[in-house]
Amino acid sequence: MNLKSGLPFWLIKNGLSKDYHTLDSDLETEVLIIGSGITGALTAHFLCEAGVKCAIVDRRMVSTGSTTASTAQLQYEIDVFLFELIDLVGEEAAVRAYKLCLESITTLEGIIKKLGISCDFSRKSSLYLASDRHGAKDLEKEYAIRKKHQLPVTLLDRATLKEKFNIDRRNALYNDCSAQVDTYLLCQKILEHYKKTCGLIVYSHTDIIKIENTGDGIVAHTEKKQRIKAKKIVAAPGFESESLLNEKVMKLNSTYVLVSKPLKDTDFWNERCLIWETARPYIYIRTTSDNRIMLGGFDEPFQDPKRRDKLMEKKNDAILKRFKKLFPESKIELDFYWCGTFGETKDGLPFIGEHPEHKDMYFALGYGGNGITFSVIAAEMIRDLYTGKANPDTQIFKFNR
Ligand SMILES: Cc1cc2nc3c(=O)[nH]c(=O)nc-3n(C[C@H](O)[C@H](O)[C@H](O)COP(=O)(O)OP(=O)(O)OC[C@H]3O[C@@H](n4cnc5c(N)ncnc54)[C@H](O)[C@@H]3O)c2cc1C
Repeated sequence: MNLKSGLPFWLIKNGLSKDYHTLDSDLETEVLIIGSGITGALTAHFLCEAGVKCAIVDRRMVSTGSTTASTAQLQYEIDVFLFELIDLVGEEAAVRAYKLCLESITTLEGIIKKLGISCDFSRKSSLYLASDRHGAKDLEKEYAIRKKHQLPVTLLDRATLKEKFNIDRRNALYNDCSAQVDTYLLCQKILEHYKKTCGLIVYSHTDIIKIENTGDGIVAHTEKKQRIKAKKIVAAPGFESESLLNEKVMKLNSTYVLVSKPLKDTDFWNERCLIWETARPYIYIRTTSDNRIMLGGFDEPFQDPKRRDKLMEKKNDAILKRFKKLFPESKIELDFYWCGTFGETKDGLPFIGEHPEHKDMYFALGYGGNGITFSVIAAEMIRDLYTGKANPDTQIFKFNR
């Protein structure tokens, strides 16, 4: 699948990793992870930490799937409002899913600190803006339900929003528990760390085309006819899950991102908070450590790469126009842009864990605008499943829920 086009900023900023090669002989390992994006890297982290021998393979250059295209805003609030999620999956599961997303940001911060990784992680506040009257009503309802469940949230009215952030919208939800990161760099550093300290095996350009149960384990077959034998396989293929799962569990969309030229310190809004809005499709906005604005959105409900790419310039104009409506004084000028594919599920939640038709496999499919927080949740859960530690939260993200 063509996952992205254009020039993702993170690839230019960090460059490609040269340390990995194609698998050219058979391999045996305890756990094989398919996919070297943030989900695969975090799964390797938790498994290596638990003393499990792992190997990771990727059909591309390492970590250059959706992880390079991501804007990497870390928020506990998912695309589906909590009050809507309650209608879809019940109050207990919905609230727990939101709380797990909140915890996952702290977990990720802990991993970064523990491994001593420098990857532009910073804690941020976040604004969820009402795009119109209807959005403002939804935010009021959302505020009440989040407050009831002790989730961190403040409702800002029009006057406060104007005074504090110079933004003219009816209202907004505010929290100071969000974060931003350079996920591509984080991913590379996690893999390097465990390669050095735990003998993690990593192969790039190694495409898994078939998986077979042998009775005493599981074997992955590569396109170049190598066999990888393992006790278990973790599938962390991002949005390319269909060839491993044989089931469609998500809808694919196209999304667009642009990055400004560096600006002066005085050209930013207060707290440089993350910003998104209730309109669908929405725009999302963050800043970078080198004083740029990174913003994206205007998603289209299709995946066709040719159609997606043709729209790129039109989408850039639309995103910039919406940004300027929010910040009419901004001196923003375009520097890089790209577009990518992303998947979403009906309830906005990921699919994590075992699948009845795929013995000896775990899936880590973190879909939606909050894919990275779902990657953290999935990776930790897979460690628990593999090591036999009870984890009742697996019920929330199971297949056929
Ligand atoms: C434009 C954009 C903006 C986003 N913004 C945000 C955001 O602000 N916050 C957020 O939390 N999330 C965001 N997301 C989502 C987030 O980036 C993804 O959820 C996350 O990067 C997925 O990571 P992953 O490791 O699961 O997938 P990937 O990074 O795609 O990694 C999967 C890897 O598996 C490999 N692979 C697949 N199949 C095979 C196979 N059969 N054999 C071998 N290798 C295989 C692929 O080559 C790929 O490298 C965004 C996504 C996009 C596209």
